[in-house]
Amino acid sequence: ETTPAPNFIRNQVRDEIEGGQVTKIVTRFPPEPNGFLHIGHAKSICLNFGLAEQMGGECHLRFDDTNPAKEEQAYIDAIKEDVSWLGFQWAGPVRFASDYFDQLYAWAQHLIREDKAYVDDLTPDEIREYRGTLTEPGQPSPYRERSAEENLDLLERMRLGEFAEGEKVLRAKIDMASPNINLRDPILYRIRHASHHQTGDKWKIYPSYDFTHGQSDAIEGVTHSICTLEFEDHRPLYEWFLNHLPVPHKPRQIEFARLNLNYTLTSKRKLKMLVDEQIVDGWDDPRMPTISGMRRRGYTPAAIRKFCEMIGVTRADGGLVDIAMLTHAIRSDLEDNAPRAMCVLKPLKVVLTNVPDDHEEVYEVAGHPARDDMPMRKVPLTREIYIDQDDFMEDAPKKFFRLAPGKEVRLRNSYVICCDEVIKDDAGEVTELRCSVDFDTLGKNPEGRKVKGVIHWVSVDHGIPLEVRLYDNLFMVEQPDRDKDVDFLDHLNPESLTVCNAIGEPSLAEAGPEARYQFERVGYFCADRHVSTPDHLVFNRTVGLKDSWAK
Ligand code: ATP
Ligand code: MG
Ligand code: MG
Repeated sequence: ETTPAPNFIRNQVRDEIEGGQVTKIVTRFPPEPNGFLHIGHAKSICLNFGLAEQMGGECHLRFDDTNPAKEEQAYIDAIKEDVSWLGFQWAGPVRFASDYFDQLYAWAQHLIREDKAYVDDLTPDEIREYRGTLTEPGQPSPYRERSAEENLDLLERMRLGEFAEGEKVLRAKIDMASPNINLRDPILYRIRHASHHQTGDKWKIYPSYDFTHGQSDAIEGVTHSICTLEFEDHRPLYEWFLNHLPVPHKPRQIEFARLNLNYTLTSKRKLKMLVDEQIVDGWDDPRMPTISGMRRRGYTPAAIRKFCEMIGVTRADGGLVDIAMLTHAIRSDLEDNAPRAMCVLKPLKVVLTNVPDDHEEVYEVAGHPARDDMPMRKVPLTREIYIDQDDFMEDAPKKFFRLAPGKEVRLRNSYVICCDEVIKDDAGEVTELRCSVDFDTLGKNPEGRKVKGVIHWVSVDHGIPLEVRLYDNLFMVEQPDRDKDVDFLDHLNPESLTVCNAIGEPSLAEAGPEARYQFERVGYFCADRHVSTPDHLVFNRTVGLKDSWAK
């Protein structure tokens, strides 16, 4: 088994609790509802909710909803479902940063009265120009010295919608020469004449991320505000607000390295492009690295949580994580927990010439080789069966241990058969094999010879048609968005989806939505939770059998 990877935040919190600096931790997971959650978010969810779970604290779910133009109720619903599906429960109600808009507005007025904020009439381009660069200090805006009275009046009129978008902003008055550009009078409020999914048309101004996040943490009593490393440079600003406002509580920001996975995009904006351009079939297409896509593909919550435990939590950027680690996590879960079944993806008919037409024998087979708690399956053998086209070769090399003319192979759970005749159509395609059964081989080796190969098969009479969708990576290169000059869409894998008209053993008829199986010798599959019905079963390949993860 895998040893737990280091998690520096967990170690730190444990020390703080043991040392008595903290009694109960409060964390939060703060998604913006502008898309579906992806595997990167799963890392943050497992970290925040996991810490609360392990340390006897609580974790809030808070929507960071300060940008109404990009946000939607549908994303809120999907995010809640994903967090619950992963097995986590938020403490208290679902929270919204927009719950605090009144308080934030009052705090903005407080900063104005303290001469720490002002309304600026510069255009967005001018603000950028005045801000300076890493090597050049910024210049003060000509509007920086407005009186508190005038600022309060202008802010109120901004709120009421008297000005157009972009005409004015509210800025903190900090330090235009600070070496940290985030402190050069950051923007606190922007004018947006947009309707908001929670607050409707109440507001014509919306607070910035920086002016919202720490104060929301403070209002909620968050102790550890955990975020990704891009926000390290924002920490002085996070603390500046806490120090200049009469907040009820002082949370602490801690940064960790975000997850990057090879062959995978972890950016909502880019994933949204795949959806909008209809390159995939929605946010939960089984090829998407979204939590809901992985769910549809057949991933389990346990596997995703195990993966997040395996990658650990560090401050230093760990580079690209190998997707083989993720597939290893789901494969080992399914290896232990998925019942087995036989399913032929590319059927080739085989007539067992010495089995009478009306003959039928039924094998009682274990549902799982190591799990006697799983029900047995009934597997019927009849005169006509299907095997997979790939398990037959006409001109087979010596090392081919499956079926070939004049050669023998064992049918899994059944007899050894010998291929006596190959039937072809006019185009020379093999359409049928005629084989004979050695009836003295059920559950025992054949006399005087070794038969190495074992292949899966399904009775023609009893097999059930299945639509099987074989998924592969969406992208052909490890970092599809690495090169800024190349469109990541140029790296799409044209073969990310192959559909097979397969035939499965009768036990599969009972597969409800999200039922997971190992199709023996083929891979792990999951009944599609949306489109699979008893009349038309649809299975998604979760992952193949071969594990390529090397620690
Ligand atoms: P994206 O760029 O995909 O939109 P985001 O960070 O803007 O991601 P948020 O909704 O703001 O998306 O993220 C919610 C939380 O998830 C944040 O705390 C963020 O730091 C964390 N998070 C997002 N992406 C990753 C990632 N790849 N690895 C770890 N944590 C992440
Ligand atoms: Mg974002
Ligand atoms: Mg964000």
